[in-house]
Amino acid sequence: MSGTRAGGLSAPRPPQGYLEQDKAAPVIQGWCPGALRPMASGDGWVVRVRPRLGRLTPAQAAGIAELAQAHGNGLIDLSARANVQLRGVTEASHAPLIAGLRALGLIDDSVAQETRRNIVVQPFHGASDPTLAIAADLAALLAADDAPDLPAKFGFAVDCGAAPVLTATASDIRIEVHDGKVWLRPDGSSRAKAISADTAADEAIALARWFLRMGGVTGGRGRMAALIARGITPEAFDTPLPEAQFAARPGLCPTGAMIGFDFGQMQAATLAALAQLGALRVTPWRMLVLEGAQNLPALPGVITDPADPMLKVIACTGAPGCLQALHPTRSLARALAPHVPDLLHVSGCAKACAHPGPAPLTLIATAQGYALHHADQITHHTADELLARPELLTR
Ligand code: SF4
Repeated sequence: MSGTRAGGLSAPRPPQGYLEQDKAAPVIQGWCPGALRPMASGDGWVVRVRPRLGRLTPAQAAGIAELAQAHGNGLIDLSARANVQLRGVTEASHAPLIAGLRALGLIDDSVAQETRRNIVVQPFHGASDPTLAIAADLAALLAADDAPDLPAKFGFAVDCGAAPVLTATASDIRIEVHDGKVWLRPDGSSRAKAISADTAADEAIALARWFLRMGGVTGGRGRMAALIARGITPEAFDTPLPEAQFAARPGLCPTGAMIGFDFGQMQAATLAALAQLGALRVTPWRMLVLEGAQNLPALPGVITDPADPMLKVIACTGAPGCLQALHPTRSLARALAPHVPDLLHVSGCAKACAHPGPAPLTLIATAQGYALHHADQITHHTADELLARPELLTR
């Protein structure tokens, strides 16, 4: 990682009781960073911006690039919940950064509002589908004083384009369109309730309240799928929906041009260059859609080839950028990428935050090296072994 600005940093929420010897046991924060409530990392504070309705205007994108350079270390991440993270922010630079983001219309009134506005919007929505209207209604209800007090990671997916594409994106309440009808579905269940687009947001909030009433939250944490797994299901959600599959790849798409980035991270200069090309839709696949573009941009730091080997590796920040990481992740993932048949996830600790679901191949840093999870087997290797014999990945 370059441009580290951790000097003089005081963390807003340091991991409780964190000691060097505790590194093998990752600290579960139970919350995600926001803009008003940043999270400490090894390279400074991480400030997460939630673009409204999943979209950045050219002015907002250019402004974020400028602010990341001025008040962070110039590195910008795309998150798995379609958010934009500025890295390397300091205690001193946080206030002017927030003022700049607020001027761009990207800051909520309070931490509570920011935390609740956890909505992933399908990036392929069109003028004739209800995605934006439902997402806007939902955002308004979640900003209200009487909004349900949901756990920090609880989220909504508004997936109402031609077909669902967000089924693999972490969300607790899903609003989907199947065969032209709008459905409400609790995560963890394949059964849904038919609803109308006009009342979809209200119905989603009602389902969130049901989740709270049924004891979905323990100690401030809880996810819908865990409640459903306990056999607790809402009434009238009885229509089985077909399973939707979607694999995100760079290329031209119904709403423009989708582009990727190594590990979903870009330099501020890259975002500034993209802002010149038009509005951006932020996806949960750590890619951006250049709205309305008919050509793929030829810019440094941008992946446009769907066969690029870097699309086969996912790696969290790892060491030294993350305080909990036992070893680096991205340098190893980059070196192994040409040898990966399908997908490799490299994680700096057991928390696996870059890819919470299973992957065909997973490397998890341990005190001694890396544990390779492949099929049902776990083997242990050093980075040097893996680099010298990448066939170990699939043997
Ligand atoms: S998975 Fe990676 S980014 Fe997440 S806490 Fe562990 S080392 Fe840090």
